[in-house]
Amino acid sequence: MLRQELEISTFGDLLNHYPYRYFDRTQIIKIKAIDSKTEYAQVAGTLINIAEEGVGGKKRLVATLYDETGRIELLWFQGAQWMKKTLKENEKYLVFGKVNLFGCYFNIAHPEIELWNPETASAGMQPMYPTTEKLKIKGITNRSFAKLTQSLFERIGHSEIPEILPEEMLLQYNLCNRYNAIRWLHLPDTEEHEQVARYRMTWEELFISQLLIARLRMQHIAQPGWKFEKVGEIFNNFFAHHLPFQLTNAQKKVLKEIRQDTGSGKQMNRLLQGDVGSGKTIVAIMSMLLALDNGFQACIMAPTEILAQQHFFSISELLADMGIPVELLTGNIKGKARKLILQNLADGSLPIVVGTHALIEESVQFKNLGLAVIDEQHRFGVGQRARLWKKNEMPPHVLVMTATPIPRTLAMTLYGDLEVSVIDELPPGRKEIKTVHRKDSLRMGVMEFMRKEVDTGRQAYIVYPLIEESEKMDYESLLAGYEQVKVWFNENKYKIAMVHGRQDPAERERNMQRFVKGEADVLVATTVIEVGVNVPNASVMLIESAERFGLSQMHQLRGRVGRGADQSYCILLTGNKISEDCYKRIQIMVSTTDGFKIAEEDLAMRGPGDLYGTRQSGLIKFKLADIVRDIAILEQTRAAAQQLLTLDPGLKLPQHRYIRNMLVNQGKQSHWGKIS
Ligand code: ADP
Ligand code: MG
Repeated sequence: MLRQELEISTFGDLLNHYPYRYFDRTQIIKIKAIDSKTEYAQVAGTLINIAEEGVGGKKRLVATLYDETGRIELLWFQGAQWMKKTLKENEKYLVFGKVNLFGCYFNIAHPEIELWNPETASAGMQPMYPTTEKLKIKGITNRSFAKLTQSLFERIGHSEIPEILPEEMLLQYNLCNRYNAIRWLHLPDTEEHEQVARYRMTWEELFISQLLIARLRMQHIAQPGWKFEKVGEIFNNFFAHHLPFQLTNAQKKVLKEIRQDTGSGKQMNRLLQGDVGSGKTIVAIMSMLLALDNGFQACIMAPTEILAQQHFFSISELLADMGIPVELLTGNIKGKARKLILQNLADGSLPIVVGTHALIEESVQFKNLGLAVIDEQHRFGVGQRARLWKKNEMPPHVLVMTATPIPRTLAMTLYGDLEVSVIDELPPGRKEIKTVHRKDSLRMGVMEFMRKEVDTGRQAYIVYPLIEESEKMDYESLLAGYEQVKVWFNENKYKIAMVHGRQDPAERERNMQRFVKGEADVLVATTVIEVGVNVPNASVMLIESAERFGLSQMHQLRGRVGRGADQSYCILLTGNKISEDCYKRIQIMVSTTDGFKIAEEDLAMRGPGDLYGTRQSGLIKFKLADIVRDIAILEQTRAAAQQLLTLDPGLKLPQHRYIRNMLVNQGKQSHWGKIS
């Protein structure tokens, strides 16, 4: 049961299953003292009126507990049968749980309940463990967890929980020993001990992750790679005759870094960070030409169909006069066309392929893949990055690009194994996008303004939120919005296109292309256009229901305009009443266009879990650590990890054997071992 529900199958696992908070259960309160401010309560009283209510599958169990001051209802929605058998009327019970207010009565649903025993009534600090509904129904509660760990600690001593960190480290960083830490986490006798324990285990957790990253990095550095000996004909020809603009200094600098990496005989693993519109694509293209010059194939992988198509069109156009074949490979390319592409990749006659994650499917084999570019990396899971390895006996050079500037702390945890390049300069002549906040009551004026912009020959985006939980509703509001836009913008005079995730890809693409080619004036869209889409003539980005967007998302969307030389605008439209939190987000957007600042604020406001789809990547699943709150510890552990590996790169010294074992185990559990 524990194993299925929480992956706990050994005592070690049990010890690693930390409580997430503690409740003071030294106090038993009177039922009358419960009020609307009471979050959790421990009461004692006599149980009466045990009754099943409802019919069929919806049965629930209700009981009343009373003491000399009042009564409270206890409820079980699940496991009613079982509880009914266990509970006895007119017996005295000790009850603990979260208090709810229903109408004007208080109740406790699924309480922790046990027969009154004056000797064990004071439970001290009660740890709350992450548990599941299923376990609760079977009566495995926090109390049972606590009892399990308690009896475990009665039997084990220091030797069962050995110290893994060297003595000097404990001293240097002021950490308590591991036995105490784990003991106090489960059975804290004082609040201070609990904090000391938590600090130590947080430190350890971050330290291990930083060690893993540092080791990966060492492996990367030692990993042989294809040597791109020369800058050849193709690159030079493109540079001299086909490059449509002058490269910025930042772009040149990054190309130089890539040139050095790929010429070194070691595998390149580089992260290219550059704010939206900073011109990463051209860097990717020119790096691919470098691969071609040295007899290799290259690919670029984008997270969405639209983005892959867009890359495909712009790359084919740029390379059209040079006679370099480029193909697009996505999940929608099937049958003969697909077969031909696969064949040409395998025999080497197709040098460049642009695609989605369809590229990492087993069936896609390259003759000699020399460079893989991954655009908008944060959308891909780590596992996917790793799978590019398999395309060759020698791994290709990997260039990872991201438009979402990653706060330093997150970069340290997520990409600490990669070398980093930054494009910190926008192409010349760009005007800063003017961003304003407008409330719904000013909608008329906003539409008027947009019409004027469009009348001067510019194009506009109108973006609606679309999030999964309420997808159907969002879909309807999008369609309603579309109808409204058709009224605002006289349909006979203006051309309006719409793209969203529910269209079939061909239709979506057709509509998108109408906008890209300038045949449509206004694009009504969902966030499918969030990344990468490039229409320099578009000058207005209207974000509908901006209160529902996260900061980074709004920044990405705003980056769709301001790509030409003219003044562009971003309008954040919200309801008339918005929350303080939302107001703060909007103010940040209005006050800065600096992607790094925005990313830092986003991280601070939302926490790392939500950021950039990293939740799925499984990389920052810490049990205790929070990389925003624990930044100081993160920096310490990073330094400590580097220091340790400099001293003992293979972790061969006897005092490091526990750490080594720990790393080996962690490596097995996650994707760590295989990140490209
Ligand atoms: P991102 O970094 O967001 O992927 P893109 O590569 O799409 O940005 O580039 C944004 C726009 O800027 C494109 O229209 C591109 O052609 C243009 N661009 C890129 N580099 C330069 C440059 N050095 N000078 C002028 N325009 C450039
Ligand atoms: Mg891009």
